Amino acid sequence: MSDRPTPVPLCDVNAQYRALQPEIDAAVMRVVSSGLAINGPDVAAFEKEAAAYCGAKHAIGCANGTDAILLALAALDVGPGDEVIIPPFTFFATLGSVLRTGATPVFAEVQPDTFNLDPIEVEAKITPRTKAIIPVHLFGQCADMSALQAIAEQHNLHIVEDAAQSFGAEYRGQKCGSFGSINSFSFYPSKNLGTLGDAGMVTTNDDALAKKLFAFRNHGSEVKYFHKYVGWNARLDTIHAAILRAKLPHVDGWIDGRRAAAARYDELISGFGIAGFFRRPIAKPDRKHTYNQYTVRVAPRDRDDLVKFLRDNAIGCDIYYPLPLHLQECVKHLGHREGDFPVSEEASRGVLSLPMFPEITAEQQRRVVERCATFTEQRARRAA
Ligand SMILES: *Cc1c(COP(=O)(O)O)cnc(C)c1O
Repeated sequence: MSDRPTPVPLCDVNAQYRALQPEIDAAVMRVVSSGLAINGPDVAAFEKEAAAYCGAKHAIGCANGTDAILLALAALDVGPGDEVIIPPFTFFATLGSVLRTGATPVFAEVQPDTFNLDPIEVEAKITPRTKAIIPVHLFGQCADMSALQAIAEQHNLHIVEDAAQSFGAEYRGQKCGSFGSINSFSFYPSKNLGTLGDAGMVTTNDDALAKKLFAFRNHGSEVKYFHKYVGWNARLDTIHAAILRAKLPHVDGWIDGRRAAAARYDELISGFGIAGFFRRPIAKPDRKHTYNQYTVRVAPRDRDDLVKFLRDNAIGCDIYYPLPLHLQECVKHLGHREGDFPVSEEASRGVLSLPMFPEITAEQQRRVVERCATFTEQRARRAA
């Protein structure tokens, strides 16, 4: 018998399938036996249910969360000559989609506590060419939507929420995906609502934009073989719509599970006396944080050693994100240098995401934090 502890994964995407196997199997087989793999009835049904959940008038399913951002920008006629304001500390898709339209991405610094766009920094980056702002609701918590909406209104700009990590999150009692002109979601397996593959969605309250989005995701055509716009194939597969319909009624319970797990981490971190070394995520009182990730901050000099230590101890962890977007090789032409966005750069050097999924047990979490505490002790002993 080995006394090696059972691993604690960063994320357990199969736990939801195990819990809902009869429903998910039935949903998949319903699509398989119908033969309606493309644009079957589950697609429109899911769109209706998801729109109602988000409190948006329309939801348009699509192929993935990256296409969702691209669809939003395309439907808003964002293109060459336009500027789009985005945070440097987010997943690459936010930047990649802007670049794909031919528009120029303009970075605005994030707030050090939430890692979300700082409205004051956004306002300073507005020019006559600015067309849209993309607030990313990072790690499961909404950006400061009231301040951002006021800026957008004053300067006549569009907001496109990148809500990929925050399905179900709320800002002042209102769900994300209902604030911007068009908003994007991802149903990648590890997101708050995830399918068994790639899928995404956009939401809007605007009838004309909804019509345009339906066309754009299907080669820009409103009438088959007649192309009003240059769209592309960004459709949501029926099979994913069916799986998502089976899972949607459970998403609030899973979010509760994430929130309970986050509260337990908070307690364990103070219980083990390491709150001074592990800065816990900040949940703003006017928002419902959904903890798609539980991301702590440690001293940059310790971070990579800690990642190695945890992985050696069979504890999953990851760094979201190790290099801010303004310093990525593919945007060298924008001419940014280290030091341009110190808050984002500092975050990239100190963040660490711990295992987080709705089904994580208190015992698994205790093991994670106990190992973190052991690392901290060893580090202190070595320094003494
Ligand atoms: C996951 C993610 C996306 C992209 O979603 P895909 O479905 O993987 O294309 C976009 N933005 C953010 C912030 C994400 O986390």
